[in-house]
This record gives sequence, C-alpha cells and structure tokens, in this order.
Amino acid sequence: MEIYRLPALSDNYIFLLHDPNQNIAAVVDPAEVKPVLEKLELLGAELVTIFNTHHHHDHVGANQKLIQKFPKLTVYGGVEDRGRIPGQQVFLQEGDRVHFAQRVGEVLFVPGHTSGHIAYYFPPLVAGEIGELFCGDTLFAGGCGRLFEGTPVQMVESLSKLRNLPENTRIWCAHEYTLKNLQFAMTVDRENPDLQARFAEVKEARSRNEATVPSMIGVEKRTNPFLRWEQPALQLAVQSQDPVQTFAHLRGKKDRF
Ligand code: ZN
Ligand code: FE
Repeated sequence: MEIYRLPALSDNYIFLLHDPNQNIAAVVDPAEVKPVLEKLELLGAELVTIFNTHHHHDHVGANQKLIQKFPKLTVYGGVEDRGRIPGQQVFLQEGDRVHFAQRVGEVLFVPGHTSGHIAYYFPPLVAGEIGELFCGDTLFAGGCGRLFEGTPVQMVESLSKLRNLPENTRIWCAHEYTLKNLQFAMTVDRENPDLQARFAEVKEARSRNEATVPSMIGVEKRTNPFLRWEQPALQLAVQSQDPVQTFAHLRGKKDRF
C-alpha cells in the first residue's frame, strides 16, 4: 500500500492509498475532486473506496462527485454519522475492520471533535514495522481538534486510544496546523527539550514550505501538549492536577490562542 498526501483547500490533506498490484485506489477524506482525479490519472488507477473520518464539509466535500465518476466505489464512515456523510454505504463502529491492498484497517471510535468521528488504524504487516493511522481532525501534529460536538472526557478517552498505539505509527492527520500548534505548545511546555527541538525543525520546514504530516505517535507523546495531561509541567501551566481538567484548560487556552 502506497500512501500519497494531496494538499487541498487552504490547509487540508487528502490521503490517497494505492494498491499497485490491482491498480486500485482509496481516498481518505476527499475535500476536493481535482487533486484526487489528477493523482488517479497519473497512477492510471481506479478509485474503489472512500474512507471518511467525520462529516465536516472539508472532509466529505468531494464524495458526491467522486461517486458520479466512479459509480462502483464504496463509501465508509462512522455509524453515528448516518445521514451526514454524502453517499455513505458502510456504517462502522469500534472494532470493525476494513480491507485495502492486503492490509486490514481497524476502526477506532474517537468522538470529541464531532460526535461520530472515527479513525482507521492499519497495523504493520510485520510486527515492529511502521503502522498507519488516519485520524481526521482528532489528533494533529502538535495539537488536537476543537471540541465542536464532544466533551473533554470523550476527547481524553479518544486521544488515549491513539496514544496507546505503537510509537512507530505514522499519523496522517487532515490539516497542516503544526507550526501554529507548536507555537501554542511552547507557551505551556517551554522547558521540554524535545518540544524545543521539534519547534525549531518545524519552523525550518515550514519556511521552505515543506509538509509536516505525517508525524509519529512517539514524537507526539513527547511533544504534543494534548497527549500530556499527566505531565507536571502542563498541569502547573493550567493550575490543575486532574488529567481531564488539565486537558480541558489546555483546549480552552488553545481556542483563545
Ligand atoms: Zn473537522
Ligand atoms: Fe477539518
């Protein structure tokens, strides 16, 4: 399975999965039609699957047009998003499995950003190698999604599931928000040497207009304040000792940042 990152809209990423053996493709959260069709043409591949993580327009905006173009394709999304994802045919819940290019994806229910949000985790084919996580707007590089439809308790539970994945899991998140996220992180965790180093790297990369996605779970655990609710430095920054309260205060501060 080859993964391509296609920039879309102002700061979205669409991920195109290609199976070179069968020459078929899947897309995760197609925000726009054009970049998908261009990539399919370059590869000479047929689109057979849309994997949606949640119902927001910048993630499902191209569903309808892609279905018109490829009438046989199958649209996957979370069961709680029934009626909100255009063309949805498969209604997934925690523990369900999806298949693409000899890989098996595990569905994780991760509400918080929206009430029906799911993520797709493809474990490595060989234990110890790199796994792939498509997590939409739940976990970002250096940050997490806003709580539009969920509570801090739900989001902490959802992010805990992602944090428990193996460290060498690639995080294919749906937006290029990393620099802004790390600018915020530096205001609450500035003594963290891993964060300082990452902030410098990301500033450098963005000044050259390079993408900072995918990230890795291991990197996020060491530097993302929204996975570090039990760290004393972060609890001190928001004057709380309760993990969920710490998370909620951090999320509130970031909303106003
Ligand atoms: Zn969203
Ligand atoms: Fe989004």
